[in-house]
Amino acid sequence: MTATRWLAEYAWLPEHAEPIADVLIEAEDGRFTAVTPLTRGGAPTAGVEVLTDAVRLPGLTLPGLANAHSHAFHRALRGRTQGGRGDFWTWRDQMYALTVRLDPDSYLALARATFAEMALAGITGVGEFHYLHHGPGGTPYDDPNAMSAALVEAAAQAGIRITLLDTCYLTASVDGRPLTGLQLRFGDGDAVRWGERAAAFTPAGGHAKVGAAVHSVRAVPAEQLDTVARWARERDAPLHVHLSEQPAENDACRAVHGSTPTRLLADREVLGPATTAVHATHPTSADLGLLAESRTGVCLCPTTERDLADGIGPARRMADVGIPLSLGSDSHAVIDLFEEARAVELDERLRTRRRGHFVAADLVTAATAAGHAALGWTDAGRIAVGARADLVTVRLDSVRTAGVPAVGAFFAATAADVTTVVVDGRTIVADGRHRSVDVPTELGRAIAEVIS
Ligand SMILES: [Zn+2]
Repeated sequence: MTATRWLAEYAWLPEHAEPIADVLIEAEDGRFTAVTPLTRGGAPTAGVEVLTDAVRLPGLTLPGLANAHSHAFHRALRGRTQGGRGDFWTWRDQMYALTVRLDPDSYLALARATFAEMALAGITGVGEFHYLHHGPGGTPYDDPNAMSAALVEAAAQAGIRITLLDTCYLTASVDGRPLTGLQLRFGDGDAVRWGERAAAFTPAGGHAKVGAAVHSVRAVPAEQLDTVARWARERDAPLHVHLSEQPAENDACRAVHGSTPTRLLADREVLGPATTAVHATHPTSADLGLLAESRTGVCLCPTTERDLADGIGPARRMADVGIPLSLGSDSHAVIDLFEEARAVELDERLRTRRRGHFVAADLVTAATAAGHAALGWTDAGRIAVGARADLVTVRLDSVRTAGVPAVGAFFAATAADVTTVVVDGRTIVADGRHRSVDVPTELGRAIAEVIS
């Protein structure tokens, strides 16, 4: 791969409270080799006009965004479930029904289009929380990891990195009811067999890593949680878990185990610096202490949490005790990390009726470096020498962003304002268009294919 140079009108560099003007960014073989601000005190320190070989990036250039929590197939539900009444549990039945027509081929097409939508939104790495492992009735495919392979291939074709979070999903409730009906496709029988299947999968391509996930305390019996945790620890792999998204999960866990879900995970050694709890919308103060003590991260998914009437997670209290926060679009009611990021601040305002809980740089970190780190890519999410060469440029001259100062972009821009996306040094989105996928056409076709 040849060396590339970009000249960013504004770039958000690490440890800065706001963007820097006129930054020359150089990369070779997919890594940044130099990051040089060319302006000091408002005056150019080098001849900007002579940099004829540098690709101009007008607007604000950010590090690659990380979508730390995704279920790719949920994209097909967008606009189909939002209008009705009900709650998380009625939505979940609609979501299960969608799985009927998904097989490795149709899932490849749907995930490719969904990941390409993410690329257009500036997302350079996704954490795919994957539990739709098997065929109808739970019968494994000839290759028991065919669905995992389809997801990894989909990310490659969309041009983004993926951490495939192979999810252990064994039971239908905290008290251990067996999976039935459509849920049978998620199950491997027990955690040992889950681990054997997951260990047999080696993803093709340097764009992919494998991690583990405990679906939730509803779906993995307490005595099998440590098996999943050990699997991840032995491989130095990230471990994710849905946690306290709904008060009903807390109530059921207390009734069966006499403890909160967080306490149960702590006792079973699921928590730790490589672990990310997804949602954590309804933790107790003691739960927050356990997450902080164990250096467990939290992935907030505000647009999904609002869509599913989950509630508002205590983001500021988490940050105050040192819990790293990342972001995910989860059910893909919206794929827009700018919206997820500003919701962290704006939802806190709704709760407290006060403004100013997070500064813009906190939101940038959650949307970038913290998310990539939660997915095991600790060398991504910063525009700095040695880091993976991911860049996302947001225009500051659209109807939404015209007149907006670069520092305010996270409160004004949407995914539609992303013009350029570079992943590991390769340009995958230019002039707001994906270079190899016709995203709206492919989304329409892939969704029509799986909706019965
Ligand atoms: Zn989820």
